[in-house]
Amino acid sequence: MPRPILATIHTAALAHNLARMRAAAPDARVWAIVKANAYGHGIERTFDGLRSADGFALLDLSEAQRLRALDWRGPILLLEGCFELRDLELCSRLGLWHVVHCNEQIDMLATHKTQLPHRVFLKMNSGMNRLGFTPERYRAAWTRLNALPQVEEISLITHFSDADGAKGVQAQVAAFEAVTHDLPGERSLSNSAAALRHGDVMAPKSDWIRPGIAVYGSSPDFPERSAAEWGLLPTMTLASKIIGVQELQAGDTVGYGSSFTADGPLRIGVVACGYADGYPRHCTTGTPVLVNGVRTRMVGRVSMDMITVDLSPVPDARIGSDVTLWGRAANGEVLSIDEIALAAGTVGYELMCALAPRVPVVVG
Ligand SMILES: *Cc1c(COP(=O)(O)O)cnc(C)c1O
Repeated sequence: MPRPILATIHTAALAHNLARMRAAAPDARVWAIVKANAYGHGIERTFDGLRSADGFALLDLSEAQRLRALDWRGPILLLEGCFELRDLELCSRLGLWHVVHCNEQIDMLATHKTQLPHRVFLKMNSGMNRLGFTPERYRAAWTRLNALPQVEEISLITHFSDADGAKGVQAQVAAFEAVTHDLPGERSLSNSAAALRHGDVMAPKSDWIRPGIAVYGSSPDFPERSAAEWGLLPTMTLASKIIGVQELQAGDTVGYGSSFTADGPLRIGVVACGYADGYPRHCTTGTPVLVNGVRTRMVGRVSMDMITVDLSPVPDARIGSDVTLWGRAANGEVLSIDEIALAAGTVGYELMCALAPRVPVVVG
């Protein structure tokens, strides 16, 4: 028998979350963001659940090729644009739309030989200070692009730094509007947090929203609001089984570093899941876990291949009992990946992207 760890990707939940994001911006079209191999879920494994998207956005040209290999004929957007001239040839061949965020990318386009002019998304750096032209330089870039025979259509794009927090999006929206109000072309502004939290501000201004994390059932602003409160369902379940049981007495310790000490008799389950599976080592005693769908807690340190859990709330647990590290248990109980991420001092994004290659994955 293989080691009992298994990840399951939930097609129906992906479709549900995508519909939820569509409802958040009913007049906009929706890019499903599938960068980083669909946030660790697998592009091929998520395709059925996401095929009602209006387009797919990603970074890697190889991922764009995989989408075309799945026979996706609709829009694909390269969020970082092209890295070298050769990439533009692939854009022409596969009909990829691409972001243009710097003058070097305009230079490349100007030397590109193509029969089919490209659709590009001109990126403004409206305050994030990652990619894009500053508001002062944006219109000059637009004018340069507009003069190129290689360019068929220019859309306008920017990205928010604080859509999930107190600072919000207002200042960036204002910077974007001030420079673009009289430019033609479609607009794309909102990530998950902006679409969910600032839909009222953004709705008339975003022709294309760009949700990623919410599509994968994680809340963009946890713990302020949970995925369940946003109406999102988990799209990845990481499950395993109990492979050992220990009966501790007061004073006994568990695992490396003896970081947990029992203060009385305690039954401990040993679970086949560790940091080499992608379970974060930063989790400590108290991190929630489901055994037979019943909520309990991890105790001691995460090791490479195992964690240890308190079985007191689940007296019938034994070797072979089901364990849910995150996602949905057989009885319907949900443990959000966001809770595990919080316990590890990180975000759901990182955990789903870090699912380890050794974990078998099924779609269900
Ligand atoms: C990753 C990304 C998104 C999606 O962000 P989420 O927070 O996952 O919704 C949107 N736009 C750009 C440019 C991105 O890089």
